[in-house]
Parts: sequence; structure tokens; C-alpha cells
Amino acid sequence: MTGSLHKWLPILALCIGCNSAPESQIPTTVLQGATLFDGNGERIEKGIVVIQEGRIVEMGDSETNIPKGADVIDLSGKFITPGLVDAHVHFGQTGFFDGRPDALDLRDTLPYETVQKYLSANPDRYYEAYLRSGVTAVYDVGGYEWSLELPASAEENLNAPHVAAAGPLLTPVPQENLQIINTAEGKQLIQLTSPELGRERVKKHSQMGATGIKIWMIALNDSVFMNSLRAVQEEVGLQNNKLIVHATSLDQAKEALRLGAKVLVHSVDDKPLDDEFIELAKKAGVIYCPTLVVLRGYNNAAKALQNNFTVNDPNGAVDAQTKDMINSGHLFFKYYPNPETYEADVARESDYFAGMEAIMAANLKQVYEAGIPIALSTDAGNPGTLHGISIYDELEAMQEAGIPPSDIISMATRNGALAMERGDDFGTLEVGKMADLIVLEKDPSANAAHFRSITHVMRGGLLRPVNEAFKEN
Ligand SMILES: [Zn+2]
Repeated sequence: MTGSLHKWLPILALCIGCNSAPESQIPTTVLQGATLFDGNGERIEKGIVVIQEGRIVEMGDSETNIPKGADVIDLSGKFITPGLVDAHVHFGQTGFFDGRPDALDLRDTLPYETVQKYLSANPDRYYEAYLRSGVTAVYDVGGYEWSLELPASAEENLNAPHVAAAGPLLTPVPQENLQIINTAEGKQLIQLTSPELGRERVKKHSQMGATGIKIWMIALNDSVFMNSLRAVQEEVGLQNNKLIVHATSLDQAKEALRLGAKVLVHSVDDKPLDDEFIELAKKAGVIYCPTLVVLRGYNNAAKALQNNFTVNDPNGAVDAQTKDMINSGHLFFKYYPNPETYEADVARESDYFAGMEAIMAANLKQVYEAGIPIALSTDAGNPGTLHGISIYDELEAMQEAGIPPSDIISMATRNGALAMERGDDFGTLEVGKMADLIVLEKDPSANAAHFRSITHVMRGGLLRPVNEAFKEN
């Protein structure tokens, strides 16, 4: 897990009194002097965090005991929060249209099967982008079966965020319409055609380690689907799993809550929430995952076709392939179906999405004021919503929606861990929890945009600067 001192070399410049621990002792790292935000709403000035074997063993104010022989890293004037948690990502999507041929079909150049083969063979492709964006845990809420193998393989890998995954999604959409985003080898989207199929899938995904069973839209008037969904709900209970539902209309979202959904992905974007929704949400004990920026992401990806999408990535966290793809977006303009209306389309779509975002923002404020738990989530992997760095746009959008930045901290850390069912392990800074945290130059409780001032990320006790590529550890 952790161990030799060479791991701390990148941050030796920040060290004061870097004493080597005596051989008989457990190597100990102490972060001293920063303002700590624990993820539960507490703020500690001039804090001390003592870390051994990848976990927090002591924490508190300046009176906290610093063990003899510890490596003490002076972070005076800086700020520490738990590592960020993105509660909605897809490792089966690339951040561009090659992963979503249903949105723009690039398959003549980039065959979907090839893209998926590459992603399944290289599931670590986005790990570093996440960690160097400060994201130490992610929830993949829908993908191919291989996504269900990631939680185990990422867990002990300090170059990876922690992963929870839901696996293939169940949907009312007819199978023939899903073909374009499924492969010959496997389905990430499965039409729910019978109660038997639903039960079978819930059992299978649960046995494979799925955290949550994801429903992709609710067809309220499709009686076969609705009957099947009720069987799914029942089996989810039997398997001690939980329902995650993509339901963006108020009617669908309410039905999801009546079915006891524990995670509502995306915002309600068609109309303002009403009292019934709030009541149902409280009763269900749901976590609301707003994904405010994914729509504008699609618009940005469309802009990339004329190289008009500038990736804001001062630390160079985005992986090289993604960067190349976005920067060579013009090569794919030929696939745009109506080139002559492109500019008007992009402008119209931008206005349309802005209108939806306004409803989503107002609804988020209402959810916040009602005290319903909210977890930061980006839907990264969708075109224009890049793995890792999109977290900053989402944080800012939450603030623009009217949530005070001091309250956003828990939504960006603890609540995501709770959605992943990992609240006992990470998401807050507490004695006994994993040492997953980030170091910022600026106070995130003053402005959510200050998360962009990240300098270091610690995963499992390993502290590294975010502005340079990871070395072997
Ligand atoms: Zn999604």
C-alpha cells in the first residue's frame, strides 16, 4: 500500500525537518499548517494530519501530537479537503463522439468496435487524469460488463482512483435502437423486455459486484417495461442492491422515487420540482446527482469540430489521446450531417441547453434547500465532458446554481463516497479513513472555483504534485 520513503521524493521541496523514521517504526507523514476541511462541514485552522500506511491515524488542530521521526510537510497557508469524488462517470466513453456514435457518427474513421476494444483493454486510460484533477474516487454508473472488474483492480492501485461500477444499464429503448452503442461482443444497454430478464440481470450484475442497478429512463406508458421494472425493483431488494435511475423528466423522476431509487442521476430538467417530488425524495433517501455541465459538453464537442473548444487544463491532466482528439476535431467535421447549418445548429443548441441548465440549476437549489443529499457528478466520458477536469466546471455550476461553496465541499467528497457505498473508507478526513486528500492554494469555502488551485493529490497516503506526470511508484 504505502512504504518506502522514495515515494515522498516529489514533495521533498516542501519538507521541513524531513527526519527519516527509525527502521523499527512505521513510516509516518505529517501534513502541518493547512486549513483542513474534513468533508463533514468542519473547518480546522492550522491543522495537522498524521498518516501511516495509507490511512489517517491522527488529525486535529496545532495541538495534535506529531510522532517522532515523522516526515513533516509544511503546508502553512494552504487548504486541504478530502479527495474529490465524481459520482457519475463512464469508462466506456471517451469524452468525444468516437464513444457516442449515436450523437455524431465517426465510425468510418473510428470504428466503435475498435474504440471499445481499446477502452476495455486499457481501462486505466483516464486514471491519471482523474487523480491529477484531484478526483480520488469515481462511480461508473453504466457501462460494459468489463467496467465491473475495475473496482477490484483499481482499489490497490495508487495510480488509480477508487472505482465503483453499476455495469450494463436496463432500458425501455428497443434493442435495435441501441445497436449503435453496443458492440458485437457485449451490451452496455439492455432492453428490459420481461420480469424474468430483469431478475436474471439484477442477479448477474449483483454477483459480478455491481454497486447499484442502473435504469436508463422510465417509459411510464410501456406496461411491459413497467411490469419488468417492478420485478427488477423486487430483485434489487433480494440481492441487497439498490436502484440508480436516469430520469430527467419530473414524472419519470417521481416514479423512480416511488420505486425507491437511492441514486437519481442527472437533474430534473423539464419543469420545476414540486412538493411531491421533495417529499418522495426524502422518503426514498435518495442522493441527487445533478450533472449540470454534460449538456454544454455536447455543445463544446460540436464546437471542437471547428477547433472552437479550448480545453482549460493548466496542469496538463488530460490524457494525450483525448487532447489530440479534441485538438484535431476539424478532421471530423466531414461527418457533420448538415455542414451548411452547422453554425446555426451549434448556436441554437447552446441556447437550448442554457435554458435546460437554468431549470436544472433552479431545481438543484430547491433540492439543496430541502436538505436532500447532493453528490457532485459530471457524466464524464460524454462528448465534451472530459474525464477528470470536468469536475471543476461542475463545481462552478453548482455554485452558480446558488449553493454556498462551503456546502459544496461535502457534496464533492463525502456524498459521492456515500453514493458509492464507500463512506466508511474515504470521502471525509477522519481518523481511520484512507488518506485520500488534495492540497489547494486557495480557500474552496470562499469560492468553488478555488478547487482549480490544486497543487497536490494524495491517494492512499501517496502525495504527488498534479502538474507533472506520475512517475513509477
Ligand atoms: Zn451517464
